[in-house]
Amino acid sequence: MSSLAPAIVWFRRDLRLRDHPALAAAARAGGGRVVALFVVDERLLAPAGPTRAAYLAATVRELDRTMGGRLVVRVGDPAAVVPALAREVGAPAVWVSEDFGPQGRRRDERVAAALAAEGRELRSVDSPYVVAPGVVRGPQGNPYRVFTPFFRAWDEIALDIPVDVPDVEWIGADGTSADEIVARSSRRRPEIFGDLPDGPAPLAPAGEAAARAALAVAVERARDYEDRRDALAEEGTSRLSAHLRFGTLHPRTVLAALGPGPGPRALRRQLAWREFYADVLFHHPASAWRNLQPTLDGLEVDRDGAARERFRCWARGETGVPLVDAAMRQLLEEGWMHNRARMVSASFLVKHLHLDWRWGARWFAWRLVDFDLASNQHGWQWTAGTGTDAAPFHRVFSPVRQAERFDPEGAFIRRYVGELATVEAPECWSPGAAGYRHPVVDLDVERREALARFAAARGRRP
Ligand SMILES: Cc1cc2nc3c(=O)[nH]c(=O)nc-3n(C[C@H](O)[C@H](O)[C@H](O)COP(=O)(O)OP(=O)(O)OC[C@H]3O[C@@H](n4cnc5c(N)ncnc54)[C@H](O)[C@@H]3O)c2cc1C
Repeated sequence: MSSLAPAIVWFRRDLRLRDHPALAAAARAGGGRVVALFVVDERLLAPAGPTRAAYLAATVRELDRTMGGRLVVRVGDPAAVVPALAREVGAPAVWVSEDFGPQGRRRDERVAAALAAEGRELRSVDSPYVVAPGVVRGPQGNPYRVFTPFFRAWDEIALDIPVDVPDVEWIGADGTSADEIVARSSRRRPEIFGDLPDGPAPLAPAGEAAARAALAVAVERARDYEDRRDALAEEGTSRLSAHLRFGTLHPRTVLAALGPGPGPRALRRQLAWREFYADVLFHHPASAWRNLQPTLDGLEVDRDGAARERFRCWARGETGVPLVDAAMRQLLEEGWMHNRARMVSASFLVKHLHLDWRWGARWFAWRLVDFDLASNQHGWQWTAGTGTDAAPFHRVFSPVRQAERFDPEGAFIRRYVGELATVEAPECWSPGAAGYRHPVVDLDVERREALARFAAARGRRP
């Protein structure tokens, strides 16, 4: 090993060693001597519910294990913590995979300025995406607001050549334990949640080895992905979302592992949705919490006490509408929800309960292990008709029809709604099925109400 000053790699959404260009670059710069850092940043952790925090802690522990216990975990404001470690170990540069989220960008600007004040550098290499947000542009250099043309352009430039793992001598330093992650999370529980349950869901296997195992399964499943991805009761999707979220797997590694054929091709397209939403959020950071399209800003939503109670019924999976309840209980029990179930339950909150999509997005953010600001907020906006490529507001998902199409045997409903465990399809699809709880709303009445509010909102436009 050389006598060069060591380099620091600051791990954030890239909690792996393989296919890690920032780590490879740091190893080159430090002559193989690398200090690995993870910062427990309370501001980013506070909105994470207990399951995601526990999963992150498990992932960080795994990362530490793979580097022989040399990961340096420190707590505090990265703008203070990162320069302090650089000073301590005499590192001229800190290497990161670039973060493109609104908060992450602001944080990195502050860290870069603090390092620069001491003559050191924050060096960004790669990102959690195959193509970094901001890169895919239309013919006039304009960002895309619609998925299909984005996908066409992205597909042309999406490279899938993974980077080798470098030889590294890990240099340690004092630090604390990953337990701090759990201790400092869940501190910003929205008041709207009231007495909603807060227990963590059982954790799926975390860390890079688990991600590789999950990838092998996903590659197998990808063959039938196109046919099975919407089947609610089947394991037809990749289940890679939490690994992609924490970077135990890079999406480039996934692309590289996928073979040819329509199934893998459909999965590739789905991965591009994640990149599309990150791109949209990059260009429109305010769209994290505001309507991307202002046309429905005037839509009347309910906010009174009864509306809050309806929200909590929804979150507990107690609306009396079987498919919605199965979806919401899957979220409570597993910290994950099938994509089709996310669409149906989100649509129900917006269009049958007349609630603000942000309330639903907050609950998803709290409970989902794979919560990702761009995918979640834009998934919600898509459903609410306020986002990209908007599913028109007047197209209202019927939870009964969705159950008929995507849970034809009723197996998904029966798995999660214990009260209906012995009720066969088609009976189990219906609100109020076989003595099941009385539905909180009448689907037809509220569908018409949604359309009336939609018309009024459009009419109010200047
Ligand atoms: C209201 C709503 C909220 C959502 N919130 C999130 C979220 O917080 N985090 C999240 O990762 N995904 C979110 N999604 C997208 C999607 O539901 C999940 O990515 C998917 O269910 C994860 O399961 P999987 O890994 O088995 O997916 P697969 O179907 O196997 O897809 C593979 C990967 O492609 C990406 N992907 C697939 N579909 C989408 C999509 N529609 N938008 C963006 N990326 C996609 C994900 O990274 C996923 O892991 C949301 C969708 C909706 C409708």
